[in-house]
Amino acid sequence: MANRMKSSINKIDGSVADITDRKQEESELRYSEERHRLVVETATDAVISIDDSGAILFANHAAMRIFGYDPTELIGKPLTILMPEYMRKLHENGFGRYLATGQRHINWQGTELTALRKNGQEFPVEISFGELIRGGHKVFTGFIRDTSERKQAENKLRASERTLRELTETIPQMLWSAAADGAIDYCNQRVLDYTGLSAEQVQGAGWMKTVHQDDVDKMARAWSATVSSGQPFQHEFRCLRAEDRTYRWCISRALPLRDESGRIIKWFGTVVDLHDWKEAQQALQMTQAELARVSRLTTMGELAASIAHEVNQPLTAVTNNGSACLRLLANHNLDPEVLRRALEEIVADGTRASAVIARIRAFIKKAPAERTELDINEVIQEVLTLAGHELHKNQILVECQFTRTLPLVRADRVQLQQVLLNLIINGIEAMIGVAVRPRALSLESRVDESGNVLVAIRDSGTGLGPEADRLFTTFFTTKAHGMGMGLAISRSLIEGQGGRLWATANSPNGAVFWFTLPAAGENPS
Ligand code: ADP
Repeated sequence: MANRMKSSINKIDGSVADITDRKQEESELRYSEERHRLVVETATDAVISIDDSGAILFANHAAMRIFGYDPTELIGKPLTILMPEYMRKLHENGFGRYLATGQRHINWQGTELTALRKNGQEFPVEISFGELIRGGHKVFTGFIRDTSERKQAENKLRASERTLRELTETIPQMLWSAAADGAIDYCNQRVLDYTGLSAEQVQGAGWMKTVHQDDVDKMARAWSATVSSGQPFQHEFRCLRAEDRTYRWCISRALPLRDESGRIIKWFGTVVDLHDWKEAQQALQMTQAELARVSRLTTMGELAASIAHEVNQPLTAVTNNGSACLRLLANHNLDPEVLRRALEEIVADGTRASAVIARIRAFIKKAPAERTELDINEVIQEVLTLAGHELHKNQILVECQFTRTLPLVRADRVQLQQVLLNLIINGIEAMIGVAVRPRALSLESRVDESGNVLVAIRDSGTGLGPEADRLFTTFFTTKAHGMGMGLAISRSLIEGQGGRLWATANSPNGAVFWFTLPAAGENPS
C-alpha cells in the first residue's frame, strides 16, 4: 500500500515537473520572441519576410516609413510591389529561378537595387536576404536599407571632386602636388602643356628633366631642404618650355598641408613663368640707372665751377712750388732739404688733384650698381668734399653730428653719393636767398629705433612750402632752371637699397630730409 502510494506520488511529482518545464520553455520562447520582435520593430532598416511564392508574410515598422505602406497593407502582397516595373522581370528571373533550381544568381548580401515607394518614387536600396525553413516551407527575410541619403552625399562628393578637378585643369596657372616625401604625384594640364611631358613623366622627380642643368642641383637641394624642414617653398629656376624649346625663368612656390597632429601629408604648389616680367624689370632697371647717370652728369655740370676750383687749387700749388724751385735753382741757391719739401708738396698736391678727378670720374662713370658694405659717415665726408667749394662759396656753415659706432650699410657707393649730393645741393639752393639768418647745414647720422641707419640733412633755408607733398613727384620743381628729377631719383635709389626717404619741416626754419638704410647684418642680400 505504502509503495503504491509512493509510486502515485512520484507520478504526480513527474507531471508537475513536466508542466513546470513546459511552462518555463514557453515563457522563455515568449521572452525570446518578444526580444526579436522588439529588435525587428525598432530596426532602422526595413525587415520584410516573404514565402517561397514571393508573397509578403511580415513587414516591420521601418518598412512602412521607407516604402510608405501600412505594414498590414503589405501582408499577402507580392514582393514585386516594392520594385519598379523594370526590376520586376529581373527579380522574377533571379528569385524565380532560384526557387525552381535552388541556384542563386544574385548575391543576397549587400546587393544594391532600386526600390519603389507607394507614391511611385524610386530610390536606391541595399538589401541582404536570409532564408529559413518553417513548417516545411522556405521563408525569406530581407533587410532593406534606404541608401538615398548616402547616395546623395556620395554624388555630391563626386560632383565636388569633379568640379575641383575641372578647376585645377582649366585654371590658367601651373599647379602641382607632391607626397609628404617630396615626390611629385600630380601636375595639371598647364604644366604638361608647358613642359611637353606626359602625366607619367612628371611623376616623382621626372619633372627635373625640364630644369636648366645649371639650376638642377640648387633646385633639388632647395626642395629637399623644404621637405625636411616643412617651411614654405619658393625658388626661381629656368624651365624648358616645350613650345619654343627655350629656357625661361620661372618661380615655383609650395605650401604643406598638415593633419591635426601637424604632420605634413601633402605639398601643393604653383609654377609661374616670370621671364617676360624679369626682362621688363631688367629693362626698367637699366633705364633707371641711365636716368640716374644723366642726373649725376647734370649735377656735375651745375658743380663745374666748384670742381674746376677744386682741381685748380692743387694745380696752382704745384705750379707755385715748381716755379719757386726753378727760381732757387737759377740763383744757385737750392738747398736739397728745401727741394725735398717742395717736391713732397708737389706730389701731395698732384695726388689731391687726381683724387678729385678720380672721384668725379667714378661718380659719372657708366658702371652697374654694386652693393658693398659701407660706412655711411665716410660717404658723407666724400660728398662734403665734392660739394666743399659750393658750400664755402655760399658761406654755408656745415655741422656734422656723426655717431661713430654706426653699423655698416650694404649699398652702392655712387648711388649713395648721388643721393647725398642731391640733398646737400638742394639745401644750399634753399639757403642762397636767405640773408637774414645764418645759413647752416647740419648732417646727422645715427641708428633709429628699428636698428636702421638714419641720416638727417637739415638746412635753414626757405622751407618746404605748401606743395611739400609733391616734392618727390617727377618733374616737380620750383626752380627756374630746375629739372624736378633729383628727389624722385633719390627716393627710388634709396628704396632700391631697402630704405626710405622723406622730408619734414625744420625748426625754426628750413627743411629736414631724412633717409634710412638697413644695417648690413640685417640685409644680407
Ligand atoms: P630740382 O632741384 O631740379 O627742382 P628736386 O627733385 O631735387 O628737383 O627738388 C624738387 C623741389 O623740391 C625743388 O624745386 C624745391 O621746390 C623742393 N625742395 C627740394 N629740396 C628742398 C629744400 N631743402 N628746401 C626747400 N625746398 C626743397
